[in-house]
Amino acid sequence: MNCPLCAADKAQDIFRLDHVPVICNQLWPDAAAARAAPAGTVDLKLCPDCGFIWNGAFDPARMVYAPGYENALHFSPKFQAFAEELAAGLVARHGLQGKHVVEIGCGDGYMLDLMAKNGVATATGFDPSMEGQETPSATRDNVEIVGEYFRSDQLDRHFDAILCRHVLEHVDAPVPLLSDIRCAIGDRDVPVYFEVPNAGWMLDAVSMWDVIYEHVGYWSAPAITTLFRRIGFEPISVSAGYGDQFLMVEARPAAPEPYYLDAEARDIARAARTFGRAATAELDRWRDRLSSLDGNVVIWGAGSKGITFANALGDASRPLAALVDLNTRKHGLVAPGVALPVIAPEALRGISPDLVLISNALYETEITEQLRNMGLNPDFAVIVG
Ligand SMILES: [Zn+2]
Repeated sequence: MNCPLCAADKAQDIFRLDHVPVICNQLWPDAAAARAAPAGTVDLKLCPDCGFIWNGAFDPARMVYAPGYENALHFSPKFQAFAEELAAGLVARHGLQGKHVVEIGCGDGYMLDLMAKNGVATATGFDPSMEGQETPSATRDNVEIVGEYFRSDQLDRHFDAILCRHVLEHVDAPVPLLSDIRCAIGDRDVPVYFEVPNAGWMLDAVSMWDVIYEHVGYWSAPAITTLFRRIGFEPISVSAGYGDQFLMVEARPAAPEPYYLDAEARDIARAARTFGRAATAELDRWRDRLSSLDGNVVIWGAGSKGITFANALGDASRPLAALVDLNTRKHGLVAPGVALPVIAPEALRGISPDLVLISNALYETEITEQLRNMGLNPDFAVIVG
């Protein structure tokens, strides 16, 4: 199997998850629909030459980002602060006041609205999941959301910067996407900003529940640098942010270096092999622990991590009663595969959980405090990895 980034034919097996939901952020109206949701296999491959990691069992035909896809992070104050600082910084660093900004995969327009707030002339985004949807984030006249997949011919309109956040990891053919953008820029000096989950962090932290079917590609700094340089972008900065969980690349057009390989890819390859061994052992440990447990267990966080975790447990998911989430848009819906209901924290009084599994250690303190204030006294465990 050839590497989708550098085309080398040296793929190595890293980690495997069977029967995970194809779209784990797509919640369903009832349990029957949730059980029937499409499932697939994640078969992680590593290219030792460029350090790219991808799902060799990914089938792009199964991925359809339709209305109902819910991937917004901006209900968290922590994320809001990150995004506000990012928007202000991009406008300031690249002189984007009064300029025209395009975002590929803009979700509900939260970042577009922040760009407009910081003084760009127009902010235009493309996202097929927003077709016919309300856009509560994008309230300004100069913010436009096109509810379609991005196509390179749409870049016919004038633009001074391109943003693309949390999209590249969903793209099975990243080279053509970057090439299209590079072609549309031509000989102009247009900055681009790409943000992806940081695979380097995921490997080092053994954050195995970030491995989801929707992510076909896992981008580390060496891999994304290789992509950008080969296509004809010179990175201005490649940095980790948001607790190192995001990888942020600012780049400008340059001459392509079609044979570029990053020396640090070797470190990523080593980390990937270690990750694979540790993740496999961790999954076995959780299966053993939950298989031998009596009582109710809930998972706090109905995002991709909680839902993938629940499904990867297989038969050991039996003690799970519900997923808890702060996002009111998710309440009353059902998670795919395991068919667990998503409930508000207040509904935990009716469940009286014996064990609460916290899917993001960043929120451990606020969750334990909230439950103690509700008079509940369960055990807590962080889903490590
Ligand atoms: Zn490669």
